[in-house]
Amino acid sequence: MIRQTSSFQESSTGKLYLVPTPIGNLNDMTPRAVEVLQAADLIAAEDTRNTQRLLNHFEITTPQISFHEYNTRERVPQLVAKLQAGENIAQVSDAGMPSISDPGRELVAACTQQGIPVIPLPGPNAALTALIASGIAPQPFLFYGFLPRKKGALAAAIAQLANERPTLIFYEAPHRLAKTLTALADGLGAERSVCLCRELTKRYEEFLRGTLADAVEWTKDATIRGEFVIIVAGNEHPTAQKEPQEQGSLTEQVDRLIASERLRPTDAIKRVAKQNGLKKQAVYNEYHGLNKE
Ligand code: SAM
Repeated sequence: MIRQTSSFQESSTGKLYLVPTPIGNLNDMTPRAVEVLQAADLIAAEDTRNTQRLLNHFEITTPQISFHEYNTRERVPQLVAKLQAGENIAQVSDAGMPSISDPGRELVAACTQQGIPVIPLPGPNAALTALIASGIAPQPFLFYGFLPRKKGALAAAIAQLANERPTLIFYEAPHRLAKTLTALADGLGAERSVCLCRELTKRYEEFLRGTLADAVEWTKDATIRGEFVIIVAGNEHPTAQKEPQEQGSLTEQVDRLIASERLRPTDAIKRVAKQNGLKKQAVYNEYHGLNKE
């Protein structure tokens, strides 16, 4: 095991601080977060203009550098070099916790590999804030984040969750909410309890509780605006998961999916490949008899 003592002891390198920021209410910024941002040599921010507004509000004068999903590859080694040279860097995303459906993971991994101390601060996070108010079992839970966008991949991801006992937590953009709720109702069952948590910590914060069928119905008339977390009850009666080899041959698995979920053969092949950890081509060849002499 590689031991990292967080802290407050001297380190030959700088330290990487992971600093959560408010998800809508500036009063949720902790005094420690302000202190750390002020004391850092540099702030690595997902969107420097957005973070500048926060810094102005708290009269923080630390310089910033952009760090987002599109420059992660080049930025990580640059930031690691600065940390190795002794600079203390604070990483922030646009809102909430860094790395939670936001940039950060690669930087943390690089720092831990290089023995650079990584110091996380607690603070605002949409998923947990939603979960504790949902009225749905708060543990165990499974945080998923954003579901895939493409129809086949979306259905496949949900199918893999259908048997899970933990409460499920999803993030979703308002313009995709209706489609995602319909897919969840189709894949998990329309009677599952759900809580839509909207605009958390903001002026128009609200919670819509009911079944997935109710939620789908609600989307038909509602003007859907704002930010949402979707909390869905887990499966209370999960059936024992079968090992892939117990699920029949690859061809049988594909045929079963086509029949039960009315998937197109290409989507069913894709899903079976994923479920069995195989390349799509391998399942395609097997299904179409191309492996036979
Ligand atoms: N890192 C953030 C965190 O710790 O929660 C999440 C960032 S993710 C890019 C943005 C998504 O989080 C939104 O699309 C929405 O699903 C959820 N979210 C963020 N702020 C929210 C809020 N105030 N109310 C409801 N959902 C929110």
